[in-house]
Amino acid sequence: MGELQTLSVMGLPLHAGNHYEDWLLLRYQQGLGTHVVTLNAEMAMQADQNPPLKAVLQQADLAIPDGAGIVLYFRVKGKRVERCPGIELAEALLQKLQPDQPVFFLGAAPGTADQAAQKWQMKKPDLAIAGIQNGYFSTQELPALENRLQQLQPAVILVALGVPRQEFWIAERRSLCPHAIWIGVGGSFDIWAGTKERAPAWFCNNHLEWLYRLYQEPWRWRRMLALPQFAFRALTYSG
Ligand code: UDP
Repeated sequence: MGELQTLSVMGLPLHAGNHYEDWLLLRYQQGLGTHVVTLNAEMAMQADQNPPLKAVLQQADLAIPDGAGIVLYFRVKGKRVERCPGIELAEALLQKLQPDQPVFFLGAAPGTADQAAQKWQMKKPDLAIAGIQNGYFSTQELPALENRLQQLQPAVILVALGVPRQEFWIAERRSLCPHAIWIGVGGSFDIWAGTKERAPAWFCNNHLEWLYRLYQEPWRWRRMLALPQFAFRALTYSG
């Protein structure tokens, strides 16, 4: 595991490195809690329009380069940053957890979180699953969920509520489990559960995962305009 290098894009921190899971586990062993942000162009553009989101992203302990747009931006700036999709960091971390380091699955549609957890249990029988909660709970159910997290003190809390809800959710509640590794993982549960597919390697290797996603979820086209907007905004950003 090399050192993490802190870079900046549109006023947001980005930590360049590799094997982030080892860095996270080391921090966990030291009793330090961590909020992980998986930064992509769409998120950076949202933060540009949403100062509270920007503040949350600026306060995260670790921001990894999840999206191709972020990597290309740094390439243009002459910095080599290796892309690390959030789902791959989550997978590498779960693979390395010890039986006394339980994980909590929070988010996605009813049934999907269970299925994702089940898949993981099959893949890694000694994985300790602290709990599972889908992402469509009511405000009345919230206090019970918060109590549950506080009682369980999971080592890792995967929050799949979509951007920016998951980022706010973590920032507002991380003090419930101050030593945990909290990660906003977007649509990862859908992929583990098999309700959505990741792009084939060819698309990923050619920075075209977004194109495959557009083909699978065409209604995202408007959201994807964030990519060219990001390129322009990031390269002309000052301050
Ligand atoms: N989701 C949720 N509760 C909500 C809204 C969304 O649990 O109120 C889940 C949704 O089911 C999906 C994930 O959040 O599993 C968001 O996935 P998406 O691929 O849209 O992630 P994004 O690109 O927004 O990070």
